[in-house]
Amino acid sequence: MAAGPDEQEKSDENGRERIVQATPPDRGPGDSGSEAEIIAGEQALEERAQQLAENPPDSTDVQQRMARDLRPRHFRDYVGQKEVVNSISIAVLAARKRGDTLDHALFHGPPGLGKTTIAHIIARELDSTLVHTSGPALERPADVVGLLSNLKTGDVLFIDEIHRLSHAVEEYLYSAMEDFRVDFMTGSGAFAKSINLPLQPFTLIGSTTRAGMLSAPLRERFGLAYHLDFYSIEDLAKVVTRSARILEVDIDSKGALEIAKRSRGTPRISNRLLRRVRDFSEVRHTGAVNKSVASEALGIEGVDALGLDRLDRLYLTTLSKNYQGGPAGIQALAATINEDQQTLEDVVEPFLLKIGFIVRTPQGRRTTQEGFEHIGIKPRLDVPAGQGTLL
Ligand code: ADP
Repeated sequence: MAAGPDEQEKSDENGRERIVQATPPDRGPGDSGSEAEIIAGEQALEERAQQLAENPPDSTDVQQRMARDLRPRHFRDYVGQKEVVNSISIAVLAARKRGDTLDHALFHGPPGLGKTTIAHIIARELDSTLVHTSGPALERPADVVGLLSNLKTGDVLFIDEIHRLSHAVEEYLYSAMEDFRVDFMTGSGAFAKSINLPLQPFTLIGSTTRAGMLSAPLRERFGLAYHLDFYSIEDLAKVVTRSARILEVDIDSKGALEIAKRSRGTPRISNRLLRRVRDFSEVRHTGAVNKSVASEALGIEGVDALGLDRLDRLYLTTLSKNYQGGPAGIQALAATINEDQQTLEDVVEPFLLKIGFIVRTPQGRRTTQEGFEHIGIKPRLDVPAGQGTLL
């Protein structure tokens, strides 16, 4: 999943990692639109260049912004996920030593756990360019063929939400990943011609919140596959402490622990909550953060002691009250809550499953005894709470 706007990085302090935002080839700035649009685009660029020449950006400003970027840049800064980091860093070192490209790698797990971050670190450690795109952005086969043919030896192609690639686009990836070539047809009927396009060896890194939605042929082509799990509270406290240092927030260990406990096992949430607590402390207190400031601020934010936010609680209350603890289908729940089904499946449910507040049964979702207790609703006596087989 992509980072928040204040967490996006395009280059680093020494420029070693190069990141390119992929633009589908035939819709690039120079290729699409009318001539008038192209001229207007060029004029805008010229004006911007003029402005920059007249008012160059303050370099200390830029440096400060970079320093405040919370995304770890090296494996040594990447908190937790030790087994994953050990394994992938060995694979990266071995590839470097052989002067080879790294095997294609797949990272799966809930949003905000560091999949994009690790892809950036890999590209940096390989000293290569990261080309960033996403499944929904590659709409047509022409998009992916153009992108692949522009890759240089050793480039890392990062496809976020890879489960959302269309089937037609996905098929082009099979031969690209396996043999570094794409076959495609041009013309039609009597003029149809098959073209075999060789590619430079590259590494594909896929990121997905739904490994189950990946087709078997695509999944099998990844030599490396890793699941990122929710972080422990101790690891999240390290994330909070590290981010507080970068953001120059004065926080004590109990304050960091309080934020960690309410972060739903997710570093992105830790960082977000830290910013909210910092704002609160700057306005209402001295700017320093301790346990009581953190818990007061997060209470106001609607984040409870376990880190559940309003949407988590709405889901749990709806399932427990409207559907008497279930079983309820995800579509029915999404319609009742008036929330996107995918958001519920990707963002809300994984953590509620993890902490045992709901279970997924063949008949639908059900609230467990612990789930009922947390929101203070009594389960129906005739239906044992949360019974069923885990899916
Ligand atoms: P995903 O791609 O899995 O949705 P990201 O890689 O975008 O998640 O991570 C979201 C943010 O969380 C990052 O910008 C970074 O600041 C923070 N983060 C993620 N993983 C870690 C980690 N292991 N250590 C420290 N910070 C992390």
